Amino acid sequence: MARRKGKSLRRIKDWYSRFVNGDEEGLDARREKVSARAVKLPPSRLDGSVGSEVGIESMPRTDGMVVGFYPGGSIVRVDCEQLLCGIAKTFRAAEGFSPLAVGDDVTVALTRDEHADASREDMDRADGMILSRGPRRTALSRPQPQSAKRRGQYDEETFEKVIAANMDVLLIVAATQHPPLRHGLIDRFLIIAERGELTPVLVINKIDLGQGDAKVLDDFKALGIDIHFCSAVSGDGIEKLHRTLIDKRSILAGASGVGKSTLINAIIPGANVATRTIREKDQRGRHTTSASVVYDLPEGGMIVDTPGIRELGMKLSTDELPWYFPEFENIAPACRFNNCTHTHEPDCAVIQAVENNKIPHRRYNSYLRLLETL
Ligand code: GDP
Ligand code: ZN
Repeated sequence: MARRKGKSLRRIKDWYSRFVNGDEEGLDARREKVSARAVKLPPSRLDGSVGSEVGIESMPRTDGMVVGFYPGGSIVRVDCEQLLCGIAKTFRAAEGFSPLAVGDDVTVALTRDEHADASREDMDRADGMILSRGPRRTALSRPQPQSAKRRGQYDEETFEKVIAANMDVLLIVAATQHPPLRHGLIDRFLIIAERGELTPVLVINKIDLGQGDAKVLDDFKALGIDIHFCSAVSGDGIEKLHRTLIDKRSILAGASGVGKSTLINAIIPGANVATRTIREKDQRGRHTTSASVVYDLPEGGMIVDTPGIRELGMKLSTDELPWYFPEFENIAPACRFNNCTHTHEPDCAVIQAVENNKIPHRRYNSYLRLLETL
């Protein structure tokens, strides 16, 4: 019986490592690399009632960071090891609606590799059980479009999904060309950073191909945003960008093809980023699982690449627009037309608010640009 259970655990891990690395050996190789610090249970802890609350209470504990999800639990990074963790029945999130997100600090009870309790499917897979989650310093969210009916009762909490917690920097990568700079997408990321209380850092990559549209970039400069011009291929500007990321938790954003993977390899030589495989599998939608990849900076700090943010690269939906401009919500009911787009209509309360400086011009300009992308 125990042997069968072991097999099933191995199967899940194999499947997981294929998902993350696009190969058979990834997780094992990584485990080997960190074996010196790998979390192993002392044999004396391996008896007793695994899975019962009493059993969990007596398990050794460790702190880790959530890096992804699989059906039935979370993937938690402890040191450099990734553990598959179920969620303890007694789990209580510190606060907030989304119980767990990438970047959350959690305390885990370490269970053993093979479990005797055949009745617990989740325990069968778990390396550990998440007991609790720490408070969030920051929360990067995106709108969660839902049915028009529910949106009627506009509710911030159910209308947003936390993509990542406790990140410091939103690293917005764009290219001067190939693909062309998408003004609207950058606007969206800037708003998301602002709402989540992250510092946006705009990276304009591929300067070896040209300097990009100066006028567009002046708009962003005027906002006082930290802009880095670089080339992941020639190495120009990489050193300076690298220095600003030390000791920070950065999360990567930007359209496909702008050079995010190349950039990570340039910043962290030896990172050997092979995110393509994850992305392809992700897009095929074969699994409901999403795993982030965490790149450690040798000097301290990390860059997190999480699939949740890639969806933001897709087309914006009309449903989502109010989430980006909550300050319009209180004013829009005063527009003459209740389907006012706040662009050209007579007696538009939003346009009046912009003229009276009650809504900042830059916010209204972002609104117009985002509307254009619809
Ligand atoms: P990602 O989808 O954002 O991860 O983009 P990739 O890192 O996969 O890069 C997409 C393509 O752009 C690849 O062919 C890279 O070689 C190329 N690329 C990345 N950075 C640069 C750069 O700074 N200059 C030039 N010319 N090409 C680059
Ligand atoms: Zn209006």
